[in-house]
Amino acid sequence: MVEMRDVHKEFGHNHVLKGIDLTVQAGSVCVMLGPSGSGKSTALRCINQLEEITAGRIYVEGELMGYKEVTKGGHDRLQKLHPKLVAKQRAHIGMVFQRFNLFPHFTALQNVIEGQVQVLGRSKADATARAKQLLDRVGLADRMDHYPAQLSGGQQQRVAIARALAMDPDLMLFDEPTSALDPELVGEVLAVMKDLAADGMTMIVVTHEIGFAREVADQVVFMADGVIVEHGTPTEVIDNPQEQRTQDFLSKVL
Ligand code: ATP
Ligand code: MG
Repeated sequence: MVEMRDVHKEFGHNHVLKGIDLTVQAGSVCVMLGPSGSGKSTALRCINQLEEITAGRIYVEGELMGYKEVTKGGHDRLQKLHPKLVAKQRAHIGMVFQRFNLFPHFTALQNVIEGQVQVLGRSKADATARAKQLLDRVGLADRMDHYPAQLSGGQQQRVAIARALAMDPDLMLFDEPTSALDPELVGEVLAVMKDLAADGMTMIVVTHEIGFAREVADQVVFMADGVIVEHGTPTEVIDNPQEQRTQDFLSKVL
């Protein structure tokens, strides 16, 4: 489960997240919509602690991210966690970006093995077995020995998903995972994500794929200007938006 409580993020004078409150239940899918610059990527990056928040709290699986609570002189205060502990928390969160960021000099299989060995300390044999299983799951059993340059964008993105899953994440974050793909390759990546959702993975997905949101999301969140303007079921937010800003946005993407 993910909980963001009054989360703020400022880059200098740029107040990008202005008090985000969001609850994503375990095993559910939250789709985040919103115009460019509204803070969607920043919100994901804060959950994953690629960015430090400037106020508020984020909990993943009940654990406070990046900080520990200490009581000093009767006051509850937050103390930054040691980077090693932050890394440990981050290891349980998978993230998939618009650009696949695979290691170009590694095959698909090696790409999925690497983190398991380096970060989780798995044996090469265990990591290889798991990698093969996951590449099979994303439909790439016959492409394991290909290098990224020999794979289509959709195939590369599926390797990136397998690589994230290899870390046995509690939570998967997707930041516009299909927006860099040729239209004919979008479906194969969405199909993998749909399968993952059906399997009970907790997911937060930033996407403009409204069809995916309708079909897969338990919750749709519309962000604009660093706040959540509206949230609810796909039917509520996509088909019956209450706020003008949501209506304007949807009229452009639908
Ligand atoms: P898009 O749909 O274009 O991806 P977004 O909703 O993901 O947009 P963000 O990337 O979160 O938006 O950006 C929100 C705001 O934060 C923008 O004004 C952006 O310039 C600013 N911002 C993001 N990252 C940084 C950074 N590292 N340093 C300074 N400003 C940043
Ligand atoms: Mg973004």
